[in-house]
Amino acid sequence: MSNLIEKDQQYIWHPLTQHKLKKKMLPIKKAKGVILTDENGKEYIDGISSWYTAVYGHCNEYILQKVTEQMQQLDQVVFSGFTHEPAIQLAEALVNILPEGQQKIFFNDNGSTATEIGIKMALQYHYNQQNNRKVMLAFEEGFHGDTFGAMSVSDLSVYNGAFQEHFIAVKRIPVPNGENTQEILSQLEEIHQQSPLAGFIYEPLVQGAAAMKMHHEEGLEEILKFCKSKDIILVADEVMTGFGKTGKNFASAYLQTQPDIVCMSKALTAGLLPMGATSCTQKVFDAFYDDNIAKGLFHGHTYTANPLACSAALAGIKLLTSPEMQQNIQQIHQHHLAFNEQVKNHPLVANTRCKGTIFALDLSVEMSRYGNLRDKIYNYFMSKGIYLRPLGKTIYIACPYVISKSQLHRIYEAILNLLDELREDVC
Ligand SMILES: *Cc1c(COP(=O)(O)O)cnc(C)c1O
Repeated sequence: MSNLIEKDQQYIWHPLTQHKLKKKMLPIKKAKGVILTDENGKEYIDGISSWYTAVYGHCNEYILQKVTEQMQQLDQVVFSGFTHEPAIQLAEALVNILPEGQQKIFFNDNGSTATEIGIKMALQYHYNQQNNRKVMLAFEEGFHGDTFGAMSVSDLSVYNGAFQEHFIAVKRIPVPNGENTQEILSQLEEIHQQSPLAGFIYEPLVQGAAAMKMHHEEGLEEILKFCKSKDIILVADEVMTGFGKTGKNFASAYLQTQPDIVCMSKALTAGLLPMGATSCTQKVFDAFYDDNIAKGLFHGHTYTANPLACSAALAGIKLLTSPEMQQNIQQIHQHHLAFNEQVKNHPLVANTRCKGTIFALDLSVEMSRYGNLRDKIYNYFMSKGIYLRPLGKTIYIACPYVISKSQLHRIYEAILNLLDELREDVC
């Protein structure tokens, strides 16, 4: 065992980990572009952009340069009473690419605080107007983060089960699948009558943590329209879907009904520094704008609008909006579509889906046959030098936009080889 692994086990409590399973953490020494390198020099293609963050490639030269310049100028300053150019420039750049109507940017630290603030904005929007609306609406199998408000609106799992007695009030509706829209709408009508809804938090079109579950677009549109007509504040959680992953800058751009609030993080800072942001419309902002101080949003984090994070985000948006990056995104989608044709009829594939740079397939195998199938698949890909993180029976790709055609094909090949090996096992 390497010295690093030993010390890791001595000192570190990892996220999302039951340490009694004694899984060894793999020390990663270097990341450049699409490649992660471990301490022994073995290379892995980062097929999920390090949890959907490093979409322009790791240690991107342009972003590093911008952050280095900023670092020599202004590192950190209190964002209450003070302001600074990186935050102002970033807010303006965000408003320019966000869904129509987003007007104000509230900075925070990560995806969970971005949604937490979205929820607080929705609840206080009604509280400030003395509307009796205290319940949030969310999707089944939704995931919005690990702080208390975010846990409350996330569907129950090992993540949040221990805390459910402490949750805020939430009602849940099924995900629109093309056959259940009317059912959901009548359910929604009834819920809203019995427990007036303050806001609806949703991952637009793709639910990442639910193994890239995708929505029926018109179904989602109908739900959003209903909410809009009842002044149920629409909180789009674009923490995963934001910044190009679905083929548009934000997934909300596929829809007509636009959100009142948008939550961002992950690719916001291009994988370089932690930051989140929550944007809102003028209408939401105005509900807090009052002579009465208590109507303000009294929420703030110490590192709010950290100038280095702002400069990383600004550089990221420059890259995202460049014709070259937009073209990369469309090309990845075309490659995914071609791969889909190749793989969708394989006897071990139950279902495939694709949106922008995201591709997912569900295996049609009995999990029980394999013991821990998920870990076997994970280890198979790692042995081939490919970092993918299967969820249950789902294998998905959310690759950096700078991935080359040959790197992408190495991922596809590994998936096809895995399917064949599994098939031999089954037959
Ligand atoms: C990852 C994620 C979050 C939580 O973000 P963290 O930065 O991990 O706290 C919230 N919502 C969605 C949709 C996510 O994918």
